[in-house]
Amino acid sequence: MSHSPYSWLSHSLDTIHRAHWYRSVQTLEGLPGAIASLRGQKVINFASNNYLGLAGDRRLIAAAREALEQYGTGSTGSRLTSGHRDLHRDLERSIAQLKQTEDALVFSSGYLANLGAIAALVGPRDLILSDEYNHSSLKNGAILSKATVVTYGHKNVKELTEKLQEYRKEYRRSLILTDSIFSMDGDRAPLPQYLEIAQTYNSMLLIDEAHATGVLGSTGAGLVEHFQLGKPELIQVGTLSKAVGSLGGYVAGSSILIDYLRNRAPSWIYTTGLSPADTAAAQRAIEIIQTEPQHREQLWQNIAYFQDLLTRHCPQIAPIASESPIICLPLETPKQALELSQFLKTQGIFAPAIRPPTVPTSRIRISLMATHQREHLESLVDGLKQKLLYVC
Ligand SMILES: *Cc1c(COP(=O)(O)O)cnc(C)c1O
Repeated sequence: MSHSPYSWLSHSLDTIHRAHWYRSVQTLEGLPGAIASLRGQKVINFASNNYLGLAGDRRLIAAAREALEQYGTGSTGSRLTSGHRDLHRDLERSIAQLKQTEDALVFSSGYLANLGAIAALVGPRDLILSDEYNHSSLKNGAILSKATVVTYGHKNVKELTEKLQEYRKEYRRSLILTDSIFSMDGDRAPLPQYLEIAQTYNSMLLIDEAHATGVLGSTGAGLVEHFQLGKPELIQVGTLSKAVGSLGGYVAGSSILIDYLRNRAPSWIYTTGLSPADTAAAQRAIEIIQTEPQHREQLWQNIAYFQDLLTRHCPQIAPIASESPIICLPLETPKQALELSQFLKTQGIFAPAIRPPTVPTSRIRISLMATHQREHLESLVDGLKQKLLYVC
C-alpha cells in the first residue's frame, strides 16, 4: 500500500513527454494583435483566432467598459434566476439578425453551446452522425447526449449517406454534426449536400460556424450565407471568441428550437449568464462585422497573398487544402513540427505546432488576420524557406 493513488499521473506525463505530445502555456503580453509579445520577445502572431483584429479594437473595449460601469463585473446567476440582463437579449437579437434566423440563445462559451444543444436535442433512443474531424465540443456533446454515435470519414458525403441508409430506421431522432470551417484543417463542409441528405433521411443538422462567423458570407454570417442557401431549416452554433473578439457562444435557429433549449439545455440553465462586459463587447463586434466589410475583405486579400507567396517560393510544401484563414503545413512527425515551430520563434514568428492527439498528423497551423501586413506574411515565408531549404 505504499503507492499513492495519484502515482500514475507522473507516469502518464512521462509517456506524453516521450511521444513529444507534451503541451504547456505561453504567456502573451499586451493587447491582442498582429504583433504579440512573448516573454518580452516581439513576434508576428500567426496563432490567434482574432481573424478581424476586433479583440483589441478600442470600440469593443469602450463597450465592455460601459457595461462594467452600468452592470458590474458578474452576471451573478443563471439567466433563469438573477443572471438575465437586457444586454443578453439585445445580443441574441443581433445574432439572429446576422444569421437570418428567428431567434438565438447566448451561452457562456461555444463549447457549452455545443454540449447543451446536442444533449438537449437527442438522447439514448437517437442517432448522431459525426464527421471524424469534428471539434472536441461536438464529440463530447455527442457522448453527453447518450445517443448512438456513428462517425463518418471527413466530409465523406457517400459514407454519411450509406450510414444513414443503414442505421436511420432503428432510431427515433437523428442529428448530423459538422464543423463549417474545420478548426484544424481549414477546409469547409459540403453544406448543400448535407442539407439534402438531412431532408432525405428526416435528420436534424447542426453546423458549428465557430471559424466562419465574421469570415465567410457577404455580411459575415458564415458558411450558410456563403452558399446563399436562403433560410434553411438547421441548427447553427458558433462562438463569440474568435472573429467576434469576445467570449461566449450561441445557438441560432427557429423560435421553437430556441424556446426548447431555454428549457432543456443543461449548460445554459445551470451555469451563470455571460458577463456584462463580454456581452457588450460581442454586441459591438457584431455591429462592426455587419457595417464594416473592409476587415473581411482585407482578411481575404491576405489569404490570397499568402497562398500566392507559398506557391511561388515553396512549391514543394503542399498546404493541407485550405479554404479559410487557417492554413496548415503538414510535417511527418510531431518532433519535426515542434522543431519548425521553435525555429520560427527564433525568427520572430509565432506559429504553433499542432500534434496528435488533437489531430491525426502533425502540422504547423497558421491563422491569418485582417491586421497582418504584407511584410508579416513575407517574413513567415522567409522563415519557412530557411528551415525547409531542402524542400523549398
Ligand atoms: C473554438 C471552437 C469551439 C469552442 O468555442 P469557445 O467559445 O472557445 O468555447 C467550438 N467549436 C469549434 C469548431 C471551435 O473551433
